Amino acid sequence: MTEPLVELVGLRKTYDRAVAVDKIDLAIGKGEFVVLLGPSGSGKTTILSMIGGFTEPTEGRVRIGGIDVTAMPPARRPTATVFQDYALFPHMSVSANVGFGLAMRKVRRAERERRAEDMLRLVGLEGFGPRSIHQLSGGQRQRVALARAIAVEPTVLLLDEPLGALDLALRRQMQEELVRIQKRLGTTFVHVTHDQEEAMSVADTVIVMNRGRVEDSGQPARVYLKPATLFSATFMGESNILSGRVTERAGEGVRVETALGVLTAAGQAAPGDRVHLSIRPEQLLLEPAAGEVSLGRARIAEMSFQGTHLRCHARSESGDLELLLRARVDAPVAVGEAIELRAWPADIVLLKD
Ligand code: ADP
Ligand code: MG
Repeated sequence: MTEPLVELVGLRKTYDRAVAVDKIDLAIGKGEFVVLLGPSGSGKTTILSMIGGFTEPTEGRVRIGGIDVTAMPPARRPTATVFQDYALFPHMSVSANVGFGLAMRKVRRAERERRAEDMLRLVGLEGFGPRSIHQLSGGQRQRVALARAIAVEPTVLLLDEPLGALDLALRRQMQEELVRIQKRLGTTFVHVTHDQEEAMSVADTVIVMNRGRVEDSGQPARVYLKPATLFSATFMGESNILSGRVTERAGEGVRVETALGVLTAAGQAAPGDRVHLSIRPEQLLLEPAAGEVSLGRARIAEMSFQGTHLRCHARSESGDLELLLRARVDAPVAVGEAIELRAWPADIVLLKD
């Protein structure tokens, strides 16, 4: 990571007895695009809101650029927020919306209008300044909310499910545009989503949240390929989870007895420990290759065409385990037929419970 810009130290928020955020320690690097990923209710908005100053922590500190901002009101923090519902001012023009934060900072009108036009150009809305908000589509409103937030040149931009209201095609397009804008400005983005594909496509660092805690954090590829926990493996994409018991240590790894036989995975655990192994659907191989291990035979129970691949549910002949796999569209598989499943040992991931 580059030098830490945002530091959360022992951050905790409780409501009566409900714990929304449970003692989080996080360091967010300068210029990073960080995504908080987690299911509804996992504490994402509460964290964002404590960074922005809208929610007071029960315990812990928030530092930005080395300065403790825990007691600082939102307007004095070097942050800006794009809210989930955009929170635009319906009675103001697009230009006045974008210039609003600058007006609060006593920037003169001519300068405000010039900067608003710059920001609108950056988000692809050149010339929309005089329009009123109700003349805009959902995607255009989203862009105005983004332009308004970046107009004040925040050090940290906080985005709470900013693309949640957009249709899939527009969401994909805006994901790419957000990354492009973030790289151009060099601003640190902290972006909240429950959509794992969105997280993977925009994040430099993804932080997987569950019940107010951090389950895993790192580069999206690492979190996807080598998830740290069972929750992380199942929330960040789909996975086949094999439960088992460690029989012995083996070099840098362990041997685990599972319903699909004894498998070896890298990592540390003691003989007798109950563990889980994760194998991604696309890592179950249908054809022989050198160095792979057999997982036994399975019968295809359901199959659907997904354009880029066939999505298959199969049932293992040993252990009667339900498995999810992806086959090439031209693979010789059919419902009711048995196949032999294989995997590369390096693709089998040992998970903490
Ligand atoms: P997320 O954004 O991940 O969906 P939130 O941060 O909004 O989750 O909420 C985390 C937990 O805190 C949830 O259980 C939620 O019900 C609770 N919570 C959030 N805000 C409040 C509030 N103002 N009063 C009581 N409980 C709250
Ligand atoms: Mg939320």
